[in-house]
Amino acid sequence: MAVLVESHPTLTEAQRALGSDGTYLGGGTLVMRDVNAGTVQGRILRSSDPALRQIRASLDSVEIGAGVTMAMILAERDLAHLHPVARAVGGPQIRVMATVGGNLFAAHPYGDLTTALLALGARIVTAGGAQRPIEDFLRDRERAGLVAAVQAPRPREPRAFGFLKVSRVKPKGVSVLSIAAHLPRDGGRLRGVRIAFGAMGPTPLRAQAAERILEGATLEPGVIARAAAAAAEGLDPPTDALASAWYRREVAGVHLRRLLERMT
Ligand SMILES: Cc1cc2nc3c(=O)[nH]c(=O)nc-3n(C[C@H](O)[C@H](O)[C@H](O)COP(=O)(O)OP(=O)(O)OC[C@H]3O[C@@H](n4cnc5c(N)ncnc54)[C@H](O)[C@@H]3O)c2cc1C
Repeated sequence: MAVLVESHPTLTEAQRALGSDGTYLGGGTLVMRDVNAGTVQGRILRSSDPALRQIRASLDSVEIGAGVTMAMILAERDLAHLHPVARAVGGPQIRVMATVGGNLFAAHPYGDLTTALLALGARIVTAGGAQRPIEDFLRDRERAGLVAAVQAPRPREPRAFGFLKVSRVKPKGVSVLSIAAHLPRDGGRLRGVRIAFGAMGPTPLRAQAAERILEGATLEPGVIARAAAAAAEGLDPPTDALASAWYRREVAGVHLRRLLERMT
C-alpha cells in the first residue's frame, strides 16, 4: 500500500488533519521502522511549525518543543542537567533524529528521556495549548493527541538531579532499567522528592515507596539503604529479551542506591 506524507504549517492543523487513520511523524526513528516493516501504512503527517524546535529556559524552568532532538538538547547549555539523559539515547545517528515528542510515546524498553521528565514533574502541552501533568499524560497517552512541548522545572543545583541507565551493550544499548531522581534540598533536608524508573512498567513509573522514605530526610547511608530496599515496591517490571521481571526487581534497589550515593 502507498504511503502518503502530508506536511502542515502548524501543529494545530496537523492535529485537525490527523483523523483516525493518520500517523504523526516526529524524527521517525520508530515510525519509519514501522513503515519499512509495513505495519504503518496510509497517511503520515508532519508539521513544519518552528515552535516545535524551540527551547526556552528561565532561571527555574525550561520549555522544550516536541520536535527538539536529543542532539539539540546536547547542544544547549541551559539543558546541561539533561545531557546525560540525551546522551544515553541510541547512538549519534539516532540522536540527531530522535525527538522529545517521540520519546514520550516510545514503548518499553525505550523512553529514557520520558523517565527523566517524570522525575522532574514535567507538564505536557498539547496542540491547542492545554497542559497536564506527565503522570496523567502517561496514563492514557494513546488518546492524548499531538504534543507541542514539555515544561519542566530546572534543578537549582547539579546534585539535585541524577540519571542512571543500565544496559547490557554499552554505550548504545537499550535500558534494562533507567532511573531518574529529582532531590531538591531545603536546609539540608530533601523536599519534593521524585524518583522515576524506566523499563520497570508499561510506561515510566514513580517509585513512590522510596520517595516517601526520602521525603524530609537527609541523604545519609541509613536512609539511602531503606529507600533502596523499597525501590521496586509498586513497580510492574516486564520480562523481555533483556531481563526477567525477577532480575529487574532484584537489581532496582542496587542501582537506586548507587544513584543516590552519587547525589549526596
Ligand atoms: C536503534 C535504535 C536505538 C534506540 N535507542 C533508544 C534509547 O537508547 N533510548 C530511548 O529512549 N529510545 C531509543 N530509541 C527509540 C527512539 O529513537 C526514541 O525514543 C525517540 O526519542 C523517538 O522519537 P522520534 O521522533 O524518532 O519518534 P517517531 O518515530 O517519529 O514517533 C514515535 C511515536 O511517537 C509519536 N509522536 C512523535 N512525535 C509526536 C508528537 N509531537 N505528538 C504526538 N505523537 C508524537 C509518533 O506518532 C509515533 O507513534 C531507539 C530507536 C532505535 C531505532
